[in-house]
Amino acid sequence: MKNYKLVLLKGDGIGPEIVDEAVKVLNKAADKFGFTVEYDEALLGGCAIDATGVPLPDETVAKCKAADSVLLGAVGGPKWDTLPGNLRPEAGLLGIRGALGLFANLRPAVIFEPLKNASPLKGEIIGKALDIMVVRELTGGIYFGERGRKDVNGNPAAYDTELYTVPEIERIARVAFEMAMNRNKKLTSVDKANVLESSRLWRETVIRVSKEYPEVELNHLYVDNCAMQLVRDPGQFDVIVTSNIFGDILSDEASMISGSIGMLASASLNENKAGLYEPIHGSAPDIAGQGIANPLATILSVSMMLKHSLDQPEAADAIEKAVAKVLETHRTPDIYTDGTTKVSTKEMGDLVCSLI
Ligand code: NAD
Repeated sequence: MKNYKLVLLKGDGIGPEIVDEAVKVLNKAADKFGFTVEYDEALLGGCAIDATGVPLPDETVAKCKAADSVLLGAVGGPKWDTLPGNLRPEAGLLGIRGALGLFANLRPAVIFEPLKNASPLKGEIIGKALDIMVVRELTGGIYFGERGRKDVNGNPAAYDTELYTVPEIERIARVAFEMAMNRNKKLTSVDKANVLESSRLWRETVIRVSKEYPEVELNHLYVDNCAMQLVRDPGQFDVIVTSNIFGDILSDEASMISGSIGMLASASLNENKAGLYEPIHGSAPDIAGQGIANPLATILSVSMMLKHSLDQPEAADAIEKAVAKVLETHRTPDIYTDGTTKVSTKEMGDLVCSLI
């Protein structure tokens, strides 16, 4: 029987509560689909600062590197807000992404049918089911390029540089084409090739990689147009691939279309397809410890893990179907509407398990 080694980084705030429910669901899926999961825990964020003085202890990095995958809750909270930048919980997050070489960030924007009304987009615009996957390059581009301050004609000035190498573009393009092959074979590459030289190299490279995937229909959009199209007709998109900075902005825009922060999962993958899986929301200190956090984003992060790192697509589908079914009748307070039953974090986890 296949056995997977998983590291849990429960983190701070609601992190431990939501990860516990996701583990419960993963164990149920493992029983049902005939595999086993071995868990180890490690510290990241505020809890790591309290225990060791740093947000990302070396032991955490070593454990995560040795695992098949990592599940993260969330980090941060007011207790650590006054620490200097490099000692804050969020520094641990950036550190673990770097240490694991996670260059591909996958951010699905999905609207479950029963939650359609939560979307800020209404009527016909959101008429079709929405299921977009944004593939964002995560370790290159302007966030990592040369930067600095200088004097220009006696005026203080600052600069940041967008730089991409062909291998960097090729590897993220391949992740996106593979993703498209497993979905509807439709890929939109987003750039600003009418203005930026780095975008022209991006576009040339994506076109060259597309020859390896003749079945995928590739089109290109400028980033400003893509931002407009996402709110005008989001149903036209399937997989979107783009650079670090454009992906940062577009993935947030796409996820807001779904209307509920407690529902959105994400994955970051490295060359070996090992990944870090986490909800996109934070540690929600305002509701921590109350047993009312929505665990579905973390549960859906587990389903992404099963699909993209552990090669258990049937188990992933079963979790997604169970979540869709539960939402018809039961909701945590953040997504509650009249006519449904309000449930706690734990009850939501139990309900998903009962439908797998
Ligand atoms: P947040 O996402 O934690 O919370 C924003 C709002 O959404 C809050 O009202 C919260 O109660 C609600 N919310 C979030 N997740 C929810 C869930 N699962 N169920 C129900 N309601 C939920 O963002 P914030 O308040 O800006 O940040 C709080 C802390 O989290 C900060 O320290 C921040 O730095 C950190 N943070 C961490 C991550 C991460 O770990 N990846 C991401 C974003 C923010």
